[in-house]
Amino acid sequence: KERHYMMMIRARIPGGVLNADQYLQFDRLSDEYGNGTMRITTRQTFQLHGVLKGNLKATIRAINDVLITTLGGCGDQVRNTVGCAFPHEGPFYDAVRRDILALVDSVSAKTHAYHEIWLDGERVDPEVDRQQETLYGETYLPRKFKIAFAYEGDNCADIYSNDIGLIAHRDGDQVAGYTLVIGGGMGRTASDKQTAPHLAKPFCFVTPDKLIDVCRAVISIQRDYGNRENRKFARMKYLVLERGIPWFREEAERRLGYALEDPRELVWHSADDHLGEIVQGDKVHLGLFIENGRIADKPGMALKSVLREIMMAYRPGVRLTTQQNLILTDLTREQAAEVATKLEEAGVKLASSYTPVKVRSMACPALPTCGLAIAESERALPGVVADLEKALEELGLQDEPITVRMTGCANGCARPYIAEIGFVGRVIGKYDILLGANVVGTRTNRVYREMVPLSELVPTLYPLLQAYRDERQPGEAFGDYCERVGIEQLQDRFVPVS
Ligand code: SF4
Repeated sequence: KERHYMMMIRARIPGGVLNADQYLQFDRLSDEYGNGTMRITTRQTFQLHGVLKGNLKATIRAINDVLITTLGGCGDQVRNTVGCAFPHEGPFYDAVRRDILALVDSVSAKTHAYHEIWLDGERVDPEVDRQQETLYGETYLPRKFKIAFAYEGDNCADIYSNDIGLIAHRDGDQVAGYTLVIGGGMGRTASDKQTAPHLAKPFCFVTPDKLIDVCRAVISIQRDYGNRENRKFARMKYLVLERGIPWFREEAERRLGYALEDPRELVWHSADDHLGEIVQGDKVHLGLFIENGRIADKPGMALKSVLREIMMAYRPGVRLTTQQNLILTDLTREQAAEVATKLEEAGVKLASSYTPVKVRSMACPALPTCGLAIAESERALPGVVADLEKALEELGLQDEPITVRMTGCANGCARPYIAEIGFVGRVIGKYDILLGANVVGTRTNRVYREMVPLSELVPTLYPLLQAYRDERQPGEAFGDYCERVGIEQLQDRFVPVS
């Protein structure tokens, strides 16, 4: 008798844009084949946990029935392309969306084996498949590859944590072009000090007509030169680090046959997610805070049921965000008011009712569904945030928008290395505390304390938060304070709790 293997299925939803029917399909599938919950990921897609192996085909087919694929949700290829989820309107934003979708199309695997195995069973001619796979060849990439896009000034999508970050520049109503930053990635291996999170570095500027070719050239360099011997060093960030940006650029220019322009200067104003009520003309969008991206019904909060009801009654557009939240779009004012009432009746609070620290908190799934987890994350962070909220209140810092992220291992799926406070699981019940990143996601943090028990995370931070309150400069954020004073100085100044 075959064992009951349980799997996770992750879709690929570029930019996190869905319609109500597509949302409802995931809702249905999570009940029919999953564990009854839906998880919004930090890459702006849905993953379903607890799918039995025998139900994989039916689940994947049903996802494809609503014109969404799972191809590229995982694997050593370009993963889901993410970006700002704000439902901007106008020719500039439409053009960016068109450029991004064309790029997604161009860098998606062309194999029809996916269809043969999961969808229609129609035999694929391997020779035809091979000829079409001009980017990935037969061996794909050394490791996963991540692309994100942002609009100038708004880094809500943490573009520096990606292999390629694309920043769209405006020229009136047109897209002037994109600055590319390359070589970012969060993952590290706890046991190997050579591995580390890195932020993407400025690479070049391209006009929209060259965007696809330049991205393909970058991907092909990683394909040909990336480390295929040691998976720990297989992400493109290590190649960029080893060879340097000038080499990378020369190699790209050689492949493209033309010179690349220098990247443009980048200025970031915010990295906040787009939560709360957003009014655009006669439309209203409602950005909902979804704690750790988990859509489920819990005692006192029927989030999953009420969202289903809202989807069926109002058919809003849906945007999943890279901070694991959800925006209901294109509601009329009356509908938005009714939706807010329904949410309230179901026990779902609007984003404005949460503290600033809560809406900026993120945890990866970790235990019990992630096979790589060595510590709790999604199940542990709410308690830690509650303690932190209490501490901040006591210190009069309750209005400070501090970013807090936790992961159950060093892989860093919730991007803890660019949070002002990062908690990274080391063993069951113990975490490293990392401090000193900035709010706009352009600086990584560093280890402040290692192996701190879960119950001592907030007590460890308390004296430091107190010092921040008393010593900060006007307008100084917590991460900037830690960086200015220095992590080593803070380590010396405050004794560990135990
Ligand atoms: Fe990612 Fe590690 Fe969290 Fe698993 S436990 S989701 S691999 S960070």
